[in-house]
Amino acid sequence: MEGRIIILGEHREGRLKKTSWEAIGLGRKLSAELGKEVCLALVGSEIDGLAREVSGRSGLEVVVLSNDYCRHYTPEAYCEALAEFAGTEHPYLVLLGHTYQTMDFAPRLAAMLDRGLIPNCVDYRCEAGQLVWVRQVFNGKLNLEVSPKGEPPCLVSLQQGAFPASEEDLGAPPQVVRRRIGVAEGALRRKLLEVMEAVQTRVDLSQAEIIVAGGRGLGSKEKFQLILDLAEALGAGVGASRPVTDGGWLPKEHQIGSSGQTVTPRLYIACGISGAIQHLVGMSNSGCIVAINKDPYAPIFQVADYGIVGDVFQVVPKLIEIAREIRS
Ligand SMILES: Cc1cc2nc3c(=O)[nH]c(=O)nc-3n(C[C@H](O)[C@H](O)[C@H](O)COP(=O)(O)OP(=O)(O)OC[C@H]3O[C@@H](n4cnc5c(N)ncnc54)[C@H](O)[C@@H]3O)c2cc1C
Repeated sequence: MEGRIIILGEHREGRLKKTSWEAIGLGRKLSAELGKEVCLALVGSEIDGLAREVSGRSGLEVVVLSNDYCRHYTPEAYCEALAEFAGTEHPYLVLLGHTYQTMDFAPRLAAMLDRGLIPNCVDYRCEAGQLVWVRQVFNGKLNLEVSPKGEPPCLVSLQQGAFPASEEDLGAPPQVVRRRIGVAEGALRRKLLEVMEAVQTRVDLSQAEIIVAGGRGLGSKEKFQLILDLAEALGAGVGASRPVTDGGWLPKEHQIGSSGQTVTPRLYIACGISGAIQHLVGMSNSGCIVAINKDPYAPIFQVADYGIVGDVFQVVPKLIEIAREIRS
């Protein structure tokens, strides 16, 4: 079957990553728009349970690519598996989430296939049957439109949160195809010795449903406690603008923005944050944005769904009180 859209799924500890669900959502949309079939490829071993679950929930055929070297991720083993699969499938388009893992292997895969890679896309449009992809440059100040040239497939990675996730459970009969993939001699140049977990933050911000973020407007490390209290009252993750982490009020992993994390919670509460473009690119795809700032002209209000013009030291304690009351 030629010319399908292939989504490369990323999984960890038996779960498909949120970015892969987002790619599935877009893949199904493109499939309807372009009349192309779509399938999901998963690389790994002992992942049949996950493949059946994802296939049933998404209604997509899931192709499991495995060899003796795919138990743990290495860019070489993944690229060998995916290049062989793409070589036999001749896909129309390859979609993946833009993550640390895909940043590691997607350029290599594109080079192996001798095809282009358009990374970190935030939008697309279809022009006379041709896809035009939109990606942001200069810290989100400009949008660049890119259309692939040459023979398909083009590889396209999607910015986290830019496309709505498709997580509804279709309850479809699972269609799982298993393919054993060979590895060329000498292709594997590294071996995984140990997986070391990064120091865990209180909440994984990329998966958090609610984030309370504080900025320089809080004034000091001691006063930033107010943000931690609101986060605790709401069961939320704690985010920060760069001056907060630069100043050592919070560890760097809490920073949201172009040089920090990109997050897409359902609710983002920005307290004492002005809304510089470098901050906005990390959070503007949140479901609902509430901004609290004493300056009515602060740029954060331009992306906010709800704006409270006021002093954080008056507004936030009230929110904590209400949140605690509701939760108790
Ligand atoms: C290459 C580069 C990368 C960068 N990466 C990032 C990044 O990843 N993330 C990031 O956040 N920034 C980043 N920055 C910095 C960014 O440009 C801004 O300087 C930063 O986001 C500003 O943080 P802020 O909004 O907390 O502070 P400010 O801009 O100083 O804003 C503080 C806000 O608090 C309000 N305020 C003050 N007191 C109160 C009060 N009592 N009650 C209510 N409101 C109050 C003020 O009105 C003001 O709007 C980057 C900059 C560069 C050059």
